[in-house]
Amino acid sequence: MAVTTTSANSCPPDCGFRRNGCYAESGPLALHWRSVSAGQRGCSFDELLQEVSTLRRGALWRHNQAGDLTPSAPGTIDARLLARLARANQGRLGFTYTHYRPTQPNQAAIRRANQWGFTVNLSAQTLAQADAYAALGVAPVVVVLPVGTTKPVRTPEGRLVVVCQASVGNTDCSNCGICQQRDRSAIVGFPAHGAGAGRVQAVFFEGKTI
Ligand code: SF4
Repeated sequence: MAVTTTSANSCPPDCGFRRNGCYAESGPLALHWRSVSAGQRGCSFDELLQEVSTLRRGALWRHNQAGDLTPSAPGTIDARLLARLARANQGRLGFTYTHYRPTQPNQAAIRRANQWGFTVNLSAQTLAQADAYAALGVAPVVVVLPVGTTKPVRTPEGRLVVVCQASVGNTDCSNCGICQQRDRSAIVGFPAHGAGAGRVQAVFFEGKTI
């Protein structure tokens, strides 16, 4: 399955996991991400669009195993670039996640991308935030979970959170694809993992959703 990585300067400055447990900041992915961020690997945005538009029709692909959507200003998604990416994806099954806050401009950009078939999940840091994001009705939602979670849980408002089956070793994205399904009712949960799992879990339990 095709996967992309975007330079670290795409991440929103107020992401609660930035330098605070983000799984991509450790392990082999961190080495690759650093090279991309330093401009030693990678391609231009136009070249990315070209690559996406030549994927076979119906192909599942994941944007941003590390990094986030391209900003136009700190904290604001570049709606024009996201729209171009969504257009390039048409006929393919692209999906991604974003830690940008769902401000009104960001909501509009994310809603439009989803309407055009490019799935952008809102990433929540706590179950209460997952409820708040789901209530917006603009995009599917994912959330971190405590280390070692293997069974579904419920949010404070009763929404179902299913555990990513890749995280428990039962499958991989190419055989699952739930994160690409825009109309799913379930929130997808990712148990904290990697070298920063303890800090991610602390954010989850302390409810600091800055
Ligand atoms: S829930 Fe499925 S599609 Fe989403 S990350 Fe896990 S394996 Fe991949």
